[in-house]
Amino acid sequence: MTSNCVFCDILSGSISSDILYRDDYCFAIRDINPKAPVHILVIPNNHFTFLYDLNPTEHPMIGAMFQCAKKLAEAQGLEDTGYRLVVNQGSDSGQMVDHLHLHLLGGENLGAMNTSN
Ligand code: 5GP
Ligand code: ZN
Repeated sequence: MTSNCVFCDILSGSISSDILYRDDYCFAIRDINPKAPVHILVIPNNHFTFLYDLNPTEHPMIGAMFQCAKKLAEAQGLEDTGYRLVVNQGSDSGQMVDHLHLHLLGGENLGAMNTSN
């Protein structure tokens, strides 16, 4: 746990938030400022800021985060319509919370990501 981290504070209970899912590796909450009808954050229990901080012993945690996102997408009824998973890393991405997290977005047409240039 890291001081001054909103996600660590949510996990510890010092900031209240409905925890939709929790296991030994990660937990999930609804985003406070949703960008889509379904906007859930999947967050590792341990505080990491950047993917480059991770080492191979933490790969099971990354796997658990994707398993969690998949289960929540199914639970939200998104498996047929599709969804997007996003990880913001650093200033160009607009990352606001310095604790690694996966955004699960869906429930409407999110538009294609333009990769042509
Ligand atoms: P980032 O831009 O860092 O990838 O995304 C951080 C996300 O955390 C934002 O979408 C923001 O709305 C969300 N967020 C920030 N503070 C809180 C909070 O206290 N509770 C919840 N549920 N979400 C938060
Ligand atoms: Zn944290």
